[in-house]
Order: sequence, then C-alpha cells, then structure tokens
Amino acid sequence: MLIRKIALIYFSLLALLFSANAQNEALAKIDIPDLKEYLTFIASDELQGRELGTEVNGLEITANYLAAYATEIGLKPAVENYFQTVPVLHTTRSKNDFIEVKNKKGKSVYRSEELVKLNQSHGVFSLDKESVLFIGFGENIESLDIEDKLVIVAQGNAESFSGEEAFKWQNRLERAKMNAIIEKQPKAMLMITNPKDTENKIFKQLQGWMNRPGYSLKTDDLTEQPAVLLATPKVADALLGKKGEYIKYLEEVAAGSEAVTEVSETLSLKTGVEPELLEAKNVVAYVEGSDPVLQNEYIVFMAHYDHIGVGKDGDVYNGADDNGSGTVAIMEVAEAFASLKEKPKRSIVFLWVTCEEKGHFGSRYYCDHPVFPLDKTVASINLDMVGRVYDGPRDDVWKDSPKKVKDFDGLYTLANDVWPGLAEINAAHCAELGLVPDSSLPKERFLRASDHYHFHKYGVPILNYATGYHADYHKVGDEVERINFEKIKRVADLCFLVGFDLANKIDIEF
Ligand SMILES: [Zn+2]
Repeated sequence: MLIRKIALIYFSLLALLFSANAQNEALAKIDIPDLKEYLTFIASDELQGRELGTEVNGLEITANYLAAYATEIGLKPAVENYFQTVPVLHTTRSKNDFIEVKNKKGKSVYRSEELVKLNQSHGVFSLDKESVLFIGFGENIESLDIEDKLVIVAQGNAESFSGEEAFKWQNRLERAKMNAIIEKQPKAMLMITNPKDTENKIFKQLQGWMNRPGYSLKTDDLTEQPAVLLATPKVADALLGKKGEYIKYLEEVAAGSEAVTEVSETLSLKTGVEPELLEAKNVVAYVEGSDPVLQNEYIVFMAHYDHIGVGKDGDVYNGADDNGSGTVAIMEVAEAFASLKEKPKRSIVFLWVTCEEKGHFGSRYYCDHPVFPLDKTVASINLDMVGRVYDGPRDDVWKDSPKKVKDFDGLYTLANDVWPGLAEINAAHCAELGLVPDSSLPKERFLRASDHYHFHKYGVPILNYATGYHADYHKVGDEVERINFEKIKRVADLCFLVGFDLANKIDIEF
C-alpha cells in the first residue's frame, strides 16, 4: 500500500515536472521579434487604419493575414476558412424622402421633404394612409387601440408644453413615449416638433444627427419595427385643415381636452435609409482539447483587430496599441498552445473580432450566433490595448480617468462576478510574473466598455486585460514606435498561464 502511494506521488510529481517543462517550452514561443514583426504589419499605413469603407480594405487584409497565420501554426478552423461573416448595414439617407397630405378630393395640400426617421427599422418605409390618429402628447395611451394606425404624437408633454422646457429634446421622455407606442404595433408613428419652436431648431438638430451615413450591425429583430418619424408642425396643420390649428389643438389637450382625434385626410410618406449590406469578418480558430469530455468546453481568447481608419485630413490612424497589441498578443498565445505536444484538456478558442470601434459588432454577433456554445464557455478573456507603459507627463491627460495607463508592472484586470475562481487564478499567475493586477475599475461602466460585454451579458465569466489610456489613445500617435513589446509579452505569458490552468482544471462550476 505504502509503495503504491509512494509510486503515485512519484508519478504525479513527474507529471507535474513534465507539465512545467512543457509549459516553459510553450512560453518560449511567445517572443518579442514575432510580436514586433506582426504589429509592424498590422499597424502600417498600408492597412489604412483597419476600418470599413477605406479605399484599401485594410480590415479584410488583416482578417486574411490572421487566417493565414492560423493555418501556418496549425490552428483548427472553427468555421469555414476561419471566417465568421458579420453582416453590417451601411446606411445613407434616401434622396427621395417626402411627406404629403391630400384632401378628400385627392388634391395635394401639403408636400415637403422635411422628414426624419428616428429609429433603425431597416429599409425604405412607404405608406399611403387614411384615418390618421392624433394622440396628443402620447400620455395615457394604455387603453388606446392604435394597431395598424398611423399615429401622430406631439414632442414633449402637456405639463411642459407652455414652458421653456418644451423647446428642448428630452431624450428619456421621448424614448419612453416611443417604446410605449411601438409596443401597441401602429403602422407608423409620426412625432411633430413643438409648434412654438418657430425656427424648427429641434427638427434641424435631429435631422443633422439622424441623417448622417452610418454603420449598424444587421440584427434579426429590427426589420419588423414600425417606423418612427419626425416632422414639423406644418404637416399637422395641413391634416387639421389650416395653419395654426395644431397649436390650438395642443393647447386644448394641455388644458385637459380629449387628445384622440381622427382625421380622414390622406397622408402619404416615403422615407428611409437605403442600406448597403457589407460583410465584415470575425476570425475564429481553436486548439482542440485532449480530454474526450472536457474538449467540449472552451476558453476564449479575444481581441478586436479593427481600428478607426483614416481622418478627414488623410492621416492614417494605425491603432498600434488599440488594438494591434491585443491582436498580436493572441497570435503568440495561439502559437504557444499550438506548440504543446500534449494539448490541455479543454479546447482553447482564438477569436479576433471585427468592428469593435463601430459598436462591438463582431463580439455582439459572435455572442448572438456563437460558434462554440456559450454555456460551455468557461471563460472569455478579452485583450484591448495591452501595449503601453506610462510615458511621463504627456500621459497625464488621463489623470482624472480611473483607467490611466499603468507602469511596467501594472495591469487592469477587470472580471465580472459570474465565477470568482477566474479572478483567483488570474491573481495567482499575475503574482508569478511580477504583475500587479488592478481590479478596481467601476464595473457598471467598464464591463460595457469593450467586447467582453457581450459575453458578460450571456453570463460567461469574463476577464479583460488592459494597460490603460495614454496620450495617443484614438490619435495618430498610436504608433508601433511607442509600443512596449516587453509588456505585451508579459500579458501574453499571463494569458498562456491562465489559459493552461483553466483548460486543465477539473472542476469549474458556476
Ligand atoms: Zn480598442
């Protein structure tokens, strides 16, 4: 019995030594010349700031580069050619928008191009409708049946109608109103700006804001929404018969009269954004786990590879730190895992996501359409800006931020509360590498601040590594020359050690 016990200890010691040795060999794969070579390419002017819509498609070139790299080091493709297509809508305003009121004889009494679409129901909206319903300020609509109707609602509320306040756009109030109305499934909702705003300031302001071309993630749930539109009081006057009628109507409503009024004039309108469908790409590769059961659980390493493109003056924003640094760190972490002769028990996923700067499109799309099940994902570790070290007073522009760039040993390590074990494992390996983890960032704000948010939303334990904001954040000065490669290596080493530990840990429960 004793002999068996000793033998067992001997063999587990041997296994431990063997594993430590294998780990060291793998860690040696993470090296500075590689990091430099990759980042020098990714953050070069040729890629034009890795954004949608530039002359040279630097975003796609980067995706291809990452996929070629994944092939070269022997990662498995998680999807065909390593690419998960992320559908992005590029919206520009339709040139033919109009709103028109016709009287009972079919004669046009009002026609204008003053129309703004306030929500993102995709596509062009066109409507020809009789029996328009005025519903005052949209208050007390609980019992109202407006399904399939075209409702006209006033900006602001009865209480503020006469005061100065009414001239301001109160986003919270209008949002709540919109949501309450949309829930009742009208055909469309037309909001009319305050008639006392005689210069149409609010209308012009929102027109400027909403009609800019923009990018949005194509999601499944937006197309069926009723259109929410904004117009000036002229259209309301036309519907009510003559100039000045609308303000009279609102005064009566504000004084307590019945708000709901039917009008049988015909209202026609056509508006919308004409979206062009673009295809961005997440790059998804993995090292398959060696345990027949645990290989169906995953540790995801993630970094966004996009940046903010070219400025109006032609300056290229190379984003060496944001987030070339995280992109290349994960390339090296992947090489280290791929080089292990005996792979860890769980599978390790390498996820380079697109369009973070546009609003986390890539990570959001991945989480809504996961390649590997999220309930089998034991951790998602997001690297976003891990390549800078405090560079003296110039970085003090961030002195009032809780996330100012750290010194050589410091690292922001933000975790959510799903599984406390993750933060513990992280802290242990930080200590091993002489890194000083800072987990004090306000979670409310920073859990939303990058790609990890979408994993967090789905209840996946997350970790976010960052070295913090510096003088060149989102500036043309975010260049390779200012990168501290030694620091990137330390973060990549940490990723490997934490990932290795997580992948082999027998019990992970949360
Ligand atoms: Zn970033």
